[in-house]
Amino acid sequence: GEFTALPDIEPARLQVQKTDSPRPPPPASNLVFGHTFTDHMLTISWSARTGWDTPKIVPYGPLSLYPSTSVFHYAQTIFEGMKAYRDEKGKVTLFRPDMNMKRMNSSAQRVALPTFNGDALLHLIKELIRLDKHWIPQQKGYSLYVRPTMIATEAAIGIHPPADALLFVICSPVGPYYPRGFKPVGLYGTTEYVRAAPGGTGAYKLGANYAPCVVAQKEAAKLGYEQNLWLYGPEHNLTEVGTMNLFVVFKTEDGSAELVTPPLDGMILPGVTRDSVLALAKDHASGKYKIPGLSDKLVVSERPVTMKEVKQASQDGRLVELFGTGTAAVISPVDRIGYMGEDVLIPTGPDGMGPVSKPIWQELVGRQMGSIPSEWSVLV
Ligand code: PMP
Repeated sequence: GEFTALPDIEPARLQVQKTDSPRPPPPASNLVFGHTFTDHMLTISWSARTGWDTPKIVPYGPLSLYPSTSVFHYAQTIFEGMKAYRDEKGKVTLFRPDMNMKRMNSSAQRVALPTFNGDALLHLIKELIRLDKHWIPQQKGYSLYVRPTMIATEAAIGIHPPADALLFVICSPVGPYYPRGFKPVGLYGTTEYVRAAPGGTGAYKLGANYAPCVVAQKEAAKLGYEQNLWLYGPEHNLTEVGTMNLFVVFKTEDGSAELVTPPLDGMILPGVTRDSVLALAKDHASGKYKIPGLSDKLVVSERPVTMKEVKQASQDGRLVELFGTGTAAVISPVDRIGYMGEDVLIPTGPDGMGPVSKPIWQELVGRQMGSIPSEWSVLV
């Protein structure tokens, strides 16, 4: 028949069923990342016949699914991770949430899950956060980790675009990643496994990208390293660090610093933090917006980096720093890379961070917490 547009997510139809038994949020000091969830969750179901259904905020609780449900067999699950911050005055904000909505749609499309109006979902997420905002600890560095997820819920075996899906959003109060100052991590330059490959799914936030990395992470830990450094190709190109994007700083011949991150070539997750670090550094380098404390002699590059280049720079004293970026830790300094049987050493500053990452981190965290006003901070 004629093509007719099915209903998209409609915030005006939201139904709210508040919990009868609200729990007291636990003391902030007891929080273990990802183990505590707030009183409510947002759920929106979808079917190929009728489109997006009524959005619902309901008490946090178990889902009921048949064992035949396709997500259990074929891993059609995608997710996002973002943080809501609460300032001293009780004002709650999200950081660039439009980017998470865009990325979630891009992930959905990659595994034939339904796409949706990102503004509409964001509107509903804000509603959920407002309802549970007393769960965001007041202490400095604490926030609410927001986890939007979508799964294929068709109760049938057989791999094809699902006829049913469920989008849900849960919230978890979390503490600072580095409660006692920055602690540089050691990376294992992994040559036995790859995280992503050309034409693959590394640029999408699919559950299926994470399960195969656990074994590699365990092996790195056994060798005494905190995270995997994901390498790719015959030249051992650096791609990502654990579940973070990666930046390297080289000293150039004229005494400038070159801040480098691998390009978005399909193997790199387009991180919100990555994009923010790049945007800040580019504006600083062009003189459009100066970051306090950061040297003017800065060049910013999105280009491939190989282990050969990093190793040579380390030996020649031209390696300034290397760090990971992501929502959870913001910036994570690295002090060594175990590579082909030896350790490549990376300088770290007195408090763990280097001369480029430290001022960028301060600017970024200021914008996230709202102490530095910016368009990136969005009122909930
Ligand atoms: N790479 C991977 C594989 C990740 O899982 C994440 C976390 N989402 C990142 C990079 C960092 O992305 P973001 O800055 O958006 O948190």
